[in-house]
Amino acid sequence: MAHEEESKSGAGPKLVIRNIGVLLSGDLQRPILDADTVVVKEGRIAAIGREKDVDTEGATRVIDANGTALAPGLIDSHVHPVAGDWTPRQNQIGWIDSCLHGGVTTMISAGEVHMPGRPKDVVGVKAMAITAQRAFAAFRPSGVKVLAGAPVIEHGMVEEDFRSLAEAGVRLLGEVGLGSVKDGPTARQMVAWARKHGMQSTIHTGGPSIPGSSLIDKDVVLAADADVIGHINGGHTALPDAQIRSLCEESSRALEIVHNGNERAALFTLRAAKELKQLHRVILGTDAPAGSGVQPLGIIRVIAALSSIGEIPAEVAFCFATGNTARMRNLDCGLIEVGRAADFVFMDAAQHSAGKTLLESVRLGDLPGIGMTVIDGEVRSERSRNTPPAARVPKIVK
Ligand SMILES: [Zn+2]
Repeated sequence: MAHEEESKSGAGPKLVIRNIGVLLSGDLQRPILDADTVVVKEGRIAAIGREKDVDTEGATRVIDANGTALAPGLIDSHVHPVAGDWTPRQNQIGWIDSCLHGGVTTMISAGEVHMPGRPKDVVGVKAMAITAQRAFAAFRPSGVKVLAGAPVIEHGMVEEDFRSLAEAGVRLLGEVGLGSVKDGPTARQMVAWARKHGMQSTIHTGGPSIPGSSLIDKDVVLAADADVIGHINGGHTALPDAQIRSLCEESSRALEIVHNGNERAALFTLRAAKELKQLHRVILGTDAPAGSGVQPLGIIRVIAALSSIGEIPAEVAFCFATGNTARMRNLDCGLIEVGRAADFVFMDAAQHSAGKTLLESVRLGDLPGIGMTVIDGEVRSERSRNTPPAARVPKIVK
């Protein structure tokens, strides 16, 4: 199998990754690709195939994957950033860099809600969203793509507010329910205005997460019809099983499972989605920083838990945090596909795992060892300082 695309100029950086042991595509339909080489031109995937079948000439950088697995960089669908790589919630610095060492190359804001003194008036809500969008568009902590600027809807917002936010470049709505709008009809109206103007929305699901937030039950979630059923496994307090089941059955929106949620409810959701043949809707987040902290390995912890206890092949569980999220959220990364952003994570079984391969080790519930991350074709980190050490790590040859 070889897919090639003509480069416009032939010049510009060219990255060749060869000797890939297992190529995880991020695509549920075909989670493992029969290829050992990926070629990247100007930050985008240009060719995927066997080394002998693809054009590796003129590489400006060559990585020998050393038999490790390559997957799309992981996407955290639910974070709460505030300013650069600092979170006031836990007064921690460098949490985004730490998550890069957990394989995360893209994060999506579910609202900049931990901002001390967060404005609740409409002008203030809009100003903060535009500021966050601008700031994170201009500054990527350790190269991580943080899609931010996610206003939390408040009573008093009108369609013009959503139109002007969209015009200013704001593409997301933060968790519906964390502001004053907690009723189905108002949420539905505002979510519809946001969608009309090209903004994607997410909704808080379950009991209150911290003092000041409140219960959002399945009737409100269904009425609001946000694009993402945010932390369907609660943040942390989950809805009763029957309500989670209704959300899986009666909605077609993304089913987001988070690390900082209820683990039993996460497994219940996974089983319901599997039974209903809706696994393509399952996406993963951490919901960090939160009261329960920041977990740099949160996404791989959820992948390992869902694969091992939820009895899902590891290559499928990786799709939940890559291709599924990319598709549900219209991102240009998350899949090993020609034309996509060259965001990658290299992994191998951790040293002394009972599993002999990466996939076997994850299926046994062990965390993978991360050996390298690449964002837009650039190496951003080498052997992870946070995961258990990978048995093998890739090498930069050139
Ligand atoms: Zn929440």
